[in-house]
Amino acid sequence: MNFDITRRRMVETQIIGRGITDRRVIDAMLKVPRNIFVEEAMAAQAYSDSSLPIGEKQTISQPYMVALMSEMLQLTGREKVLELGTGSGYQTAILAELSNRVYTVERIRSLALRARKALDRLHYLNVNLKIGDGTDGWAAEAPFDAIIVTAGAPDVPAHLVDQLALGGRLVIPVGNQLDQTLVRVTKEKDGTITCQESVPCRFVKLIGKYGWSGEE
Ligand code: SAM
Repeated sequence: MNFDITRRRMVETQIIGRGITDRRVIDAMLKVPRNIFVEEAMAAQAYSDSSLPIGEKQTISQPYMVALMSEMLQLTGREKVLELGTGSGYQTAILAELSNRVYTVERIRSLALRARKALDRLHYLNVNLKIGDGTDGWAAEAPFDAIIVTAGAPDVPAHLVDQLALGGRLVIPVGNQLDQTLVRVTKEKDGTITCQESVPCRFVKLIGKYGWSGEE
């Protein structure tokens, strides 16, 4: 099945049609085959305007949300990026297109292994993937020019802000399971922290030491 036309239509209606203007983000969304990151049985739905199940009660994010979060990171191609919550690996691939190197952490082993396979199949050599609790960040590789959290956190983890470089951006959904807001935290060049709220959203929970505890 050839998904090129479906993908182009997705970008026109769901991405450009909803106000995404960053040309590099639009080009990445045109290039990365979302169908590779869902189970084969769901490939026909890969370009639908929604999140989709990927197993283990987790989801691949809605294409618009992937594009919006990527745009909010303001990437130019030179950055070192940390992603918490690899999931399917689709957002990871978009980040790999938009930055220099991506460090991504997934707590569920089976998802991490599947994501790695998809990323390898598409030859993304600039991605380091780790299995574990990402709420700790990745201190050994810090600081990062950009950090993206793709699961809902109770608040902005302070030590993730610590792992941001001066001038760096952190994009994270914050709130409870029913009521989350997408937030961008910027560490200005002088170290001042500024916070900007974006749209309401609904992500699965960020579970871990500095996230939600357990499966309640
Ligand atoms: N952007 C991903 C995509 O498009 O496939 C979606 C990721 S899904 C909404 C959120 C992911 O975060 C899940 O795979 C979940 O297992 C993972 N996650 C939750 N808490 C985590 C943690 N503490 N560390 C690493 N990954 C975590």
